[in-house]
Amino acid sequence: MARYVYDFAEGNKELKELLGGKGANLAEMTRMGLPVPPGFTITTEACRAYLRTGSVPAGLFAEVQEHLRLVEARMGKTLGDPQDPLLLSVRSGGKFSMPGMMETILDIGLTDSSVRGLAAQSGDERFAWDSYRRLIQMFGKTVFGVPGAEFESELAAARAHAGAATDAELPVAQLRDVVQAYKKVFQAHTGRDFPQAPHEQLFLAVTSVFQSWNAERAVLYRRQERIPHDLGTAVNVMAMVFGNRGPDSGTGVAFTRDPATGKRGAYGDYLQNAQGEDVVAGIRNTVGLDELAKLDPHSHRELLSVMERLEQRYRDLCDIEFTIERGKLWMLQTRVGKRTAAAAFVIAAQLIDEGTITLDEALQRVTGEQLAHLMFPSFDTSAAPAPLTTGVPASPGAAVGEIVFDSARAAAAGRPVILVRPETNPDDLPGMIAAQGILTSHGGKTSHAAVVARGMGKTCVCGAEELRIDLAAETVTVNGTVLRAGDVLSLDGTTGRVYPGAVPVHPSPVVRYFEGELSDGDDPLLAAVQRLMTHADQVRRLGVHANADTAADAARARRFGATGIGLCRTEHMFLGERRELVERLILAEDDTERDAALAALLPLQRDDFVALFEAMDGLPVTVRLIDPPLHEFLPALEDLTARVATAEALGEDPGRDAVLLAAVRRMHESNPMLGLRGVRLGLVVPGLFAMQVRAIAEAAALRVAAGGDPRPEIMVPLVGAVPELETVRAEAESVLRGIEGIPPIRIGTMIEVPRAALTAGDIAQSAEFFSFGTNDLTQMTWGFSRDDVEGAFFGRYLSLGIFTVSPFETIDRDGVGELVRIAVERGRATRPDLTIGVCGEHGGDPASVQFFHRAGLDYVSCSPFRVPVARLEAGRAAG
Ligand code: ADP
Ligand code: MG
Ligand code: MG
Repeated sequence: MARYVYDFAEGNKELKELLGGKGANLAEMTRMGLPVPPGFTITTEACRAYLRTGSVPAGLFAEVQEHLRLVEARMGKTLGDPQDPLLLSVRSGGKFSMPGMMETILDIGLTDSSVRGLAAQSGDERFAWDSYRRLIQMFGKTVFGVPGAEFESELAAARAHAGAATDAELPVAQLRDVVQAYKKVFQAHTGRDFPQAPHEQLFLAVTSVFQSWNAERAVLYRRQERIPHDLGTAVNVMAMVFGNRGPDSGTGVAFTRDPATGKRGAYGDYLQNAQGEDVVAGIRNTVGLDELAKLDPHSHRELLSVMERLEQRYRDLCDIEFTIERGKLWMLQTRVGKRTAAAAFVIAAQLIDEGTITLDEALQRVTGEQLAHLMFPSFDTSAAPAPLTTGVPASPGAAVGEIVFDSARAAAAGRPVILVRPETNPDDLPGMIAAQGILTSHGGKTSHAAVVARGMGKTCVCGAEELRIDLAAETVTVNGTVLRAGDVLSLDGTTGRVYPGAVPVHPSPVVRYFEGELSDGDDPLLAAVQRLMTHADQVRRLGVHANADTAADAARARRFGATGIGLCRTEHMFLGERRELVERLILAEDDTERDAALAALLPLQRDDFVALFEAMDGLPVTVRLIDPPLHEFLPALEDLTARVATAEALGEDPGRDAVLLAAVRRMHESNPMLGLRGVRLGLVVPGLFAMQVRAIAEAAALRVAAGGDPRPEIMVPLVGAVPELETVRAEAESVLRGIEGIPPIRIGTMIEVPRAALTAGDIAQSAEFFSFGTNDLTQMTWGFSRDDVEGAFFGRYLSLGIFTVSPFETIDRDGVGELVRIAVERGRATRPDLTIGVCGEHGGDPASVQFFHRAGLDYVSCSPFRVPVARLEAGRAAG
């Protein structure tokens, strides 16, 4: 018979898929002998069965009852016992952490009768009634969808009535009234009384945790974090422990190192006399762990020793949730903690130094994504005005945008905005995703805003307590300055400073380090980056080239570690003042006119190549012959039409414009992407490719003569059939034969038309190398044009799950990727030493780099700024 429930003592940290991360780690801590309240986990499989069928799998609740009896035996209490009730928490937790996205219900088991038992047993009536009101509130909200605000306003009314500043100051009588009021709210919304059978509470709670897997915000979070939607959540049922039993109790969260900078040493927030999510919600202000050391030195010591053991066990930074009940420490959660990109590098290097992990493992602890993040610019503080205020630097970065007070409006803004809130909650997720940065007036580094922003790599400053946010008036006042929605703010997530207006941004230290402007000196981040990059370079098999068209770009690419140019587009060599020559080429009425235009273009292109080969001396430079349709170099149809019409209306001669207009009309294409471009141009416009080949070869000869080591390669775009390439090759070779003193120049092709991938075996007869143009290959495989579709239907496709990510961002492994695999296999079958690279945008995308490594490519080529990212990721792929 299928088994759906595991006692904590039966699991371990490797069982995340079955028990969820939280359950697997609770089990691991239990095995380690740490103080974890007893409990059990209902598997993700049970959740998947529920989501599939809409009902709880047969036998599940019987199994739950059995395991519950074990918990009862261990605690010496029984669920629902009117004298001394056992209380339970019911907690969600899938394979991947989704902080605050699903549901957790605390204090299950309290009823009108057991609340009195709890009061009598604990000798603390206040505590018992406070727990009961929390249950009704959480249960009502989660299981029955009662609006949270209705409970909140009852609570606020009670506070006002009692003259209490916080909930913790509410006297018992008041709390009893709150419970009565809550029950009325519950009744009014659900049409039934609050359930008085503890087992019913438990089963309803379990079912609603299953359902919370598909809550809107959970779905949105998974999409953002690329977590599959079909995993389901596990449900953890465990005995409650209480942080709200007076000043010798409390609850907290902690990290074994600083998750923002990676600095060694425990870091945490503690809230005295509080339960559950009070800390994370940022509702009351917390104290640091050093304060806990004064309040309760014994628990503090034990906590530090637990944290040390966890680090040893997990060999990484851990974050934990703990509760202290009357001086006794309880562990409620741990996991390998999220961290900023900078902290990831610093911690990986520390762990090598501490002898905990190897260099190879360290490489797996950082990602190309994180390195890309570290290469973002930050504020130029020398040009910044005095900050308005300083909050907690929760997630680094430099964000500039207009103030928005409301998540829905932030999500709809379509402009750079800063989301300003007293605190955030999971409902704010769409706004947080859309905003450049998030600013809150409450909460610490572990508040919802901070945790979620760090996870998304988004700039966040939280707990800026000087801010007076008036959501109704849409103003924020700080030290006498009043700001309104639409005013511009700059947020520095690294220092916590908040500036008025738009502060200029400057390049990241990591970029300056790659540029050679900074040394790694004693900066721990730069030293860590240096160390991991060096190792990545040692282990990677993939070469990393750059897409660069100019000598300046080539030089930067070299500084960033590129070992060649994988794509030099020659289009820019036809722009600017040279347009006129292109016009002459297009309008040429005979060979003489055309040859004259080409002859005028030749020296200009040659000079461009000389500079490029010099910048890339000794390394391959793959030059792509001209690709775009020629009419793209002519003025736009609308402009010409208007100019000709104006001239005619004025009775003037439109002259050259009339000729150009006729040419533009003649050359008009309905689908230019599928029109006269690439190799087709070379076959149709006599002398065009020959001129480019000559410019390349003559430039190489000049460099050789100057003592250089030019290594050009000629790449033919858009080939779909081997005769196209053979024709171009014959023409090119005859040009090359006529030029003295040139190095060997290989001729190859892009693979960017599906037919080329399928006939790669034939094409390799004539091609000495392949380079996948994955932008075109993606467009042509899917049959949609990148320029037209992103705004049109990609959003819908993403929400329907047809894509989890745009195929222009990360290679579509199943479709486009399959063509890549086919072309590699067939190309190499014909020519075993065929060099194969990729030069589309995907060459700098971490997930795609992993794919290209596995597909057996020789190199990836990407924009200069992505070169370090590709190097790192190529190293990770090889590890
Ligand atoms: P999330 O996944 O959103 O962090 P959790 O399941 O961790 O949700 O629950 C949120 C909070 O509820 C915890 O941080 C903890 O403070 C409190 N909590 C959960 N279980 C218990 C328990 N058995 N006893 C006391 N508090 C609990
Ligand atoms: Mg938690
Ligand atoms: Mg292309």
